[in-house]
Amino acid sequence: MKAAVWFRRDLRLGDNPAWSAATRSSEEVVPVFVVDPLLWKQASSWRRAMLAGHLTALDDNLAESGGRLHVIEGEPGTALPELAGRLGIDVVHWNSDYTPYARVRDAAVASRVDSKTHHGQLVHPPGTILTNAGGRYRVFTPFHRRWAEQEIVPTPQTGTAGVSSDPGVGVPEAGPPPLPAGEAAALDRLESFDQRVDEYVQERDRPDLDTTSRLSVDLKWGSIGPRTIIDLLGTHTDGRAAFVRQLAWRDFYADLLDSEPDSVDAALRPEYRTIEWEEDPQGLEAWKTGRTGYPIVDAGMRQLLAEGWMHNRVRMIVASFLVKDLLIDWRLGERHFRHHLLDADVASNVGNWQWVAGTGADAAPYFRIFNPVSQSTKFDPHGDYIRRWVPELRELRGKQIHEPWLAGPLELAAAGVVLGDTYPDPIVDHAAARERTLARYKEGLGR
Ligand SMILES: Cc1cc2nc3c(=O)[nH]c(=O)nc-3n(C[C@H](O)[C@H](O)[C@H](O)COP(=O)(O)OP(=O)(O)OC[C@H]3O[C@@H](n4cnc5c(N)ncnc54)[C@H](O)[C@@H]3O)c2cc1C
Repeated sequence: MKAAVWFRRDLRLGDNPAWSAATRSSEEVVPVFVVDPLLWKQASSWRRAMLAGHLTALDDNLAESGGRLHVIEGEPGTALPELAGRLGIDVVHWNSDYTPYARVRDAAVASRVDSKTHHGQLVHPPGTILTNAGGRYRVFTPFHRRWAEQEIVPTPQTGTAGVSSDPGVGVPEAGPPPLPAGEAAALDRLESFDQRVDEYVQERDRPDLDTTSRLSVDLKWGSIGPRTIIDLLGTHTDGRAAFVRQLAWRDFYADLLDSEPDSVDAALRPEYRTIEWEEDPQGLEAWKTGRTGYPIVDAGMRQLLAEGWMHNRVRMIVASFLVKDLLIDWRLGERHFRHHLLDADVASNVGNWQWVAGTGADAAPYFRIFNPVSQSTKFDPHGDYIRRWVPELRELRGKQIHEPWLAGPLELAAAGVVLGDTYPDPIVDHAAARERTLARYKEGLGR
């Protein structure tokens, strides 16, 4: 029996159910990656470099046992069946992906080759955490309770099949990855986080301290599996349990997208589909480029452009600012994040954007609106995060770093800041924007 494993978001050999099943049930396995031009073109240059880095690392891992990653280019529905026919492959294994795009793509491949699907992306696959009535959860807390009770199914060890050594067209050239890529690098990050995880509860909301795991990019590409993370960290301290709870959020949003695929483009709660958003290209551009005049928002948006990453708390602040201060459609923000984030994940991105907009699952009431200044004061208390990303404000002291418009002319001059010139005036007044948003949401809900 000759099998192929189609790698997609599971770029690892350990804890990989598709790899394990194929190498245990066949004599020879061809490890395949398909460069899908549609996805490749959409990705930012950094994300391409990150992907290429993971693929190179996977290829190196395979080389340790004499194999190579077989890379082909093309639309998978055509390219994979063609490859299977050409190489005499009997069956193609893969781990399921749950986005609407992936489902259509995978169904097209499955209609043309013999295939076996597995679950390797999440701790518990979508549709396995169910209410007593057998339905899906719409609220996180009870989902998490059930999720935590469910036994984790371990992945069997890898089998002994021979691995093909044909590299195909080879890993695409995309420049050096922005972070160390591959399975060993992910394990290093996990082991380093293991030393800090016990402070997670107290410090996870502090963007200035950088105390989270930074594993989201690995989880996006599957250079590590979530079950391996739980295995290593456990849940025996508050910090560990709090961290593993975050992995449940990832499963929750994947489950939600699986059951509500239309939520990619529409408010999950239909009553919110009639909100009238502002057409504000200038506001959108100021937000994207980090020129809103609100330092914490600008710091986050500049970090996104510079590093393809942003701290979770800051993601919430900037998302709230776009939707609730500028009244701009959350979908425009979601698309911008999806393009730039190294960890861009449709389920988590859409789920979180809808959470912030108040249109999604387990929504905070829409009238709970983040105040960018109090958020900044609370979570970046010394302004260190702002100083890192908005250097023109570096010399402002005390509270002024969070709200430079309140600084006096002498203080601004001493810090070398000219509002409206070296740094923008706030593009909206938060209090007035808040009132406008509350009225607009109410109006939308009344329609
Ligand atoms: C508007 C918005 C958009 C987001 N878009 C994405 C996205 O595209 N991809 C993505 O992976 N995360 C997204 N998140 C969730 C979260 O911000 C990131 O997962 C986290 O910042 C990644 O950093 P970390 O790995 O150091 O997190 P840690 O705090 O170390 O968390 C560990 C892991 O738990 C998961 N996790 C943590 N928080 C969340 C959450 N709120 N929702 C879902 N999973 C979570 C992630 O897999 C993360 O890697 C978004 C959050 C917001 C508010």
